[in-house]
Amino acid sequence: MSKIIFVTGGVVSSLGKGIAAASIGKLLETRGLSTTIIKCDPYLNVDPGTMNPFQHGEVYVTDDGAETDLDLGHYERFTNALLTKDSNITTGKIYYSVITKERRGDYLGKTVQIIPHITDEIKRRIRKVSKERDVDVTIVEIGGTVGDIESLPFLEAIRQLRWELGESYAINIHVTLLPYIKSAGEQKTKPTQHSVGRLREIGIAPDILLCRTEKHITKEQRDKISLFCNLDRDSVVEAIDVKHIYEVPLMLKKEGLDDLIVKKLNIKKGDKDLTEWRNLVVKRLKSPKREIDVCVVGKYIALPDAYKSIYEALVHGGIANNARVNILKIDSEDLEKGKHESRLKKAHGLLIPGGFGDRGIEGKIKAVQYARENNIPYFGICLGMQVAAIEFARNVCKLKKANSTEFDKNSKNPIICLLEEQKTIKNLGATMRLGSYPCKLSKKTNSHRAYSKDNISERHRHRYEFNNKYKPSFVKKGIVFSGVNAQHGLVEIMELKNHPWFVACQFHPEFKSKPDKAHPLFKDFIGAALEHKKQVS
Ligand code: GLN
Repeated sequence: MSKIIFVTGGVVSSLGKGIAAASIGKLLETRGLSTTIIKCDPYLNVDPGTMNPFQHGEVYVTDDGAETDLDLGHYERFTNALLTKDSNITTGKIYYSVITKERRGDYLGKTVQIIPHITDEIKRRIRKVSKERDVDVTIVEIGGTVGDIESLPFLEAIRQLRWELGESYAINIHVTLLPYIKSAGEQKTKPTQHSVGRLREIGIAPDILLCRTEKHITKEQRDKISLFCNLDRDSVVEAIDVKHIYEVPLMLKKEGLDDLIVKKLNIKKGDKDLTEWRNLVVKRLKSPKREIDVCVVGKYIALPDAYKSIYEALVHGGIANNARVNILKIDSEDLEKGKHESRLKKAHGLLIPGGFGDRGIEGKIKAVQYARENNIPYFGICLGMQVAAIEFARNVCKLKKANSTEFDKNSKNPIICLLEEQKTIKNLGATMRLGSYPCKLSKKTNSHRAYSKDNISERHRHRYEFNNKYKPSFVKKGIVFSGVNAQHGLVEIMELKNHPWFVACQFHPEFKSKPDKAHPLFKDFIGAALEHKKQVS
């Protein structure tokens, strides 16, 4: 089994535990250590796939088709860790398997209880990933805040695991907050002391404290935390606010966090700095040469986490082109009411991300039409491809009733519809077309130019598909189906011939973009938007 780092959080939620865990992974990888990451989510949903983005934020999809927590997106963007369906453990999954085993008679004669049965199942899953991945370090992030009732079984499980594995095999890094009280002009350590106290009540003494803070920690504060939390001074690590999330690994490196971790875990591996990351990512983020405005039209734009990977991938596309990407977020329902149309005019590029349900659809169709008719680079993703197809059918092919059967079951022109195998599905959880599928690209298209290869593989999360019956009329009017799934003949990418850059794909390229390796479609979309800016200014 690998060594394990448990990451817990105290005081408040939204402390950036996911970014902290991902940054720890990055620091360890830079030292030549292999890692994998597990996220434990204490909710009863089996996976977040059935949750509304307002509840949960984006649903992140892995190669093997698991619908997971968005923190896995941070892990994949920061590290090379292999993540699968086993990388996200939820209370729902744990109870589901324990109750299934109980019904099968696996516990015959016994009373099935939270301790030991639920905690054993949690430990079994963590041990399994840690063994199978064959890595040096497994990072396990526990969602929620210490003190929450629902995370207790996870904390008890990690307490037991730490005890079973022994000191230099498992450590706990506790992320906490030192709030700054303006009126007192002071940074407070008390909430941190209390949250460490809560952890110790359940038998976990943190090995390292990662203190989120607006201002530098003074010597006195460090001494106080160290004394009251039973930690030596070096184990109290400052995590000061930084402007960009990609600066976090650099900041933590400066604080010596990786040295501390390898010392506590007794791992001997060489040190290396983050020069490449600094030059390729952070420098370009901080002082880019150019700047553009890109519109994202969606219905969850009020919540930054709902399109997390999309926003990040746009930033990556900017880094690759040495440009700052200003993201103008437009609510598609506002476009329906005629509001914000002037903002579309400001855009050098327009992106419509994935989505479900008919709310705001007509606003999105309006936005695609604007981009198509005004030669503005357009990037449609999943639902963004489906609305592009509906718009083209209605306004160019003159199929006035064109729609998706998701929005109009009895549409006369079902441009987007369900495959036969989807029609009989009753359970909605984990039954979409999920995960990686191959796609063949046609030469001399914008997609082929972006990828520079004939065959690609991309991640999916959708139920509806382009209706191939309409392919000939689309082709006749200037659409190129540049990406197709050869096995099933499904449309994966459509492009507009007489347009500078109009690419719409059924898959989700945003899940595979990294800050130091922008996804080719995002890179070229931003490139096309920069070109458009040159031409209009
Ligand atoms: N609602 C559409 C479908 O199910 C698109 C899904 C998406 O954009 N992820 O096919």
